Amino acid sequence: MKLHMQILIALGLGLKRNWHIFFGIIAGIIVGIFLHGHNSIFVTTILTFIGQVFIRLIQMVVIPLIISAIIIGITSIGDNKQLSKYGAKMILYYGIITTIAVSLGAVLALTVKPGLGAAQYINIDAATSIQHQVASTINQQKGNILNIILNFIPKNPLESLAKGDMISIIVFALVFAVALAKVGKINRPVVSFFESIFAATMKVTDWIMYFAAPGVFALTATAVSSFGVDIFQSISKYLLVLALGMGIQFFVIYPAFLKVFSKVPVLMLYAAIAEAMMVAFGTASSSATLPLTIACCEKRGISHKVASFVLPLGATLNMDGTALVQTVAVIFLAQAYSVHLTPFLIVQICFLAMIASSTCAGIPGTGLITIALILNGLGLSPEQLVAGFAFLFTVERLTDMFRTTLNVTSDAVVAAAIADNENEINYDLLNNPEAYKEII
Ligand code: ASP
Repeated sequence: MKLHMQILIALGLGLKRNWHIFFGIIAGIIVGIFLHGHNSIFVTTILTFIGQVFIRLIQMVVIPLIISAIIIGITSIGDNKQLSKYGAKMILYYGIITTIAVSLGAVLALTVKPGLGAAQYINIDAATSIQHQVASTINQQKGNILNIILNFIPKNPLESLAKGDMISIIVFALVFAVALAKVGKINRPVVSFFESIFAATMKVTDWIMYFAAPGVFALTATAVSSFGVDIFQSISKYLLVLALGMGIQFFVIYPAFLKVFSKVPVLMLYAAIAEAMMVAFGTASSSATLPLTIACCEKRGISHKVASFVLPLGATLNMDGTALVQTVAVIFLAQAYSVHLTPFLIVQICFLAMIASSTCAGIPGTGLITIALILNGLGLSPEQLVAGFAFLFTVERLTDMFRTTLNVTSDAVVAAAIADNENEINYDLLNNPEAYKEII
């Protein structure tokens, strides 16, 4: 059977188990389109409320979950050699997937040229309402790579916790966990403490998932109602390139990656993480989806050791979907403004997209903010920058939902490949969808 058919069947299996979330997405799209034409403030307010309840509930467990997962993951890996092996492999695999994503985005955008003639849609007047916000974002990102990296190191971990500053929380948890692993048996009380926290947050995640269908429905409906269908006409070529790129990444690159680097059947993996994919689509947040990504992977065969180390890091650092969208978006604007795209500039765009995407927190919209980091190198005038940025804003949520789904899927793909390489995967469980009924 052809691979794409197998994948569709896998998704079908996942959907069969989670038909109610899938139904939520479809109903959300329909209601969203309807709402766009019939602006009902009452309905929109109720839907926004339901969506926010879901997101807040799930965000509530993210920080305790990330910290406890990293601490348990690293202390259970234990010795230095194995830890560096896992770490190196993780960086290599995430690097490969993101390099492919940006290359794919660049090739497609340069071939289809979605930006040619698009300048007419990029209207400076349309940008006035968000001009101030956009200009300050662009400025903040200017020449800012070193500062961004500096901010990864928390001056005060408690402040980072309070601010929900995900990357610096992870940096602290990593350092603390490695230290705990080094000090030997004396770490037991602390590790047991975090084991209890982890188990409890997983339980809360199970409960929250009862609310996934209405939550995803409400989030999708409000998102769709905000962009409606008219934008599809004006920038259909841009969206087509994105759809092509993301489709290839999902249906060809991930399966090929799993085939080359592991023996994980992509069919079973996709079926196993279907809930996480749908929640990623609805929430547009890798971090908010993280509890579920971990639950799906662990309950379906990927060891706790690998999942709890690779997935939290992936949810903040591995953003291949975002990198792909950023590459296409920047090339699109360059074409629209007739910027001469030299091979050097193209490589620079791809490289910066890899950096910009991995500095994104896994929350909605950050991919658009960090895109300023890449746009700054294009030599556009301030007016062009603001208008271009504002243009990307119009389709932001739509692309975010899809790119986040890719971000989350590739986290699981890499975790599964590492688990396979390290003999940390239970194939009896992964290959038997009937066995995994626990989540919802
Ligand atoms: N929303 C994305 C995520 O959470 C990040 C982005 O591209 O904005 O993975």
